[in-house]
Amino acid sequence: MTSESEKTPGFFLMAERSARAAGIDAPHPAQNSLNRRGLLITGAGLLTTGLLSTQAQAAGTTRHATGQTLHAPAVVGKARPALPLVMLDPGHGGKDPGAIGYTGTYEKHVAEAAATELRQQLLATGRYRVAMTRTTDHFVPLDGRVELAQEHGASLFISMHADALHNAGVRGASVYTHSHGASDSQTADLAKTENSADRYGGPLVQGTSPEVQQILASLVTEEARRGSAHMASAVVSSFQSRINLLSHPHRHAAFAVLKSAQIPSVLVEMGFMSNRLDEAALRQAGHRAMVAGAMCTAVNRYFASAGVGLAG
Ligand SMILES: [Zn+2]
Repeated sequence: MTSESEKTPGFFLMAERSARAAGIDAPHPAQNSLNRRGLLITGAGLLTTGLLSTQAQAAGTTRHATGQTLHAPAVVGKARPALPLVMLDPGHGGKDPGAIGYTGTYEKHVAEAAATELRQQLLATGRYRVAMTRTTDHFVPLDGRVELAQEHGASLFISMHADALHNAGVRGASVYTHSHGASDSQTADLAKTENSADRYGGPLVQGTSPEVQQILASLVTEEARRGSAHMASAVVSSFQSRINLLSHPHRHAAFAVLKSAQIPSVLVEMGFMSNRLDEAALRQAGHRAMVAGAMCTAVNRYFASAGVGLAG
């Protein structure tokens, strides 16, 4: 009850309270076209099968007595691989509101609304499956978010936030990748605040020693690191022309939610709740759609470039 009883600001009533929680969503707008494509492929397969058997008969290799049952032909060629899974991670949730803006906007609501918008845009491309670490306003511990991505075999993990800084004058979007040390003190502070989200999680998630955390962090493979850096630069370049960016917008720090050993992971700060202009912008559905559009372009670029594995 606690999570659902925390009421959202009025403008967020549009935020989806979908019954499709937790699961991987089937593409909505793209579903029909995917099905159609599936039918077309099946149709082409039948035509091919027919053609092959005609050729075989012409070659005299399969002369059957009338009424004899033919075995189904072996399937030639690979099955269509599954679409890559993008795991979206709206920051905070439930008892953890995240940053609270100047006019009282909760970061958790902005993050969820923006991630929901991005999910729609990604599904509309028909190129991806999309899952979210949460689709309702409830608390998910940081480790649980990474585990969800790993359990589902995600190809890419995108955490979405709009945090606060001490300096209310700082505004603009930025993107973060994992590293042991922070790229600057501002980023170190952010990582500290983000990681402390687990203080809401109770004793169950507090038992990890610094040594274990260090070991976990060192398990980040070179491949995941390269993929993360690649995705971060895709985000920066697609934001550049449309969304206000921080100076040096690609930063790195020891964000707990980015420590997946296998999955390229980025954390996008869409702006800062501590800045009045950023807060006002992120309250607007139109602005969030623009941010999601830029992120969708980045995802497209990421998967389109050579060397990016689609396994997952
Ligand atoms: Zn946050």
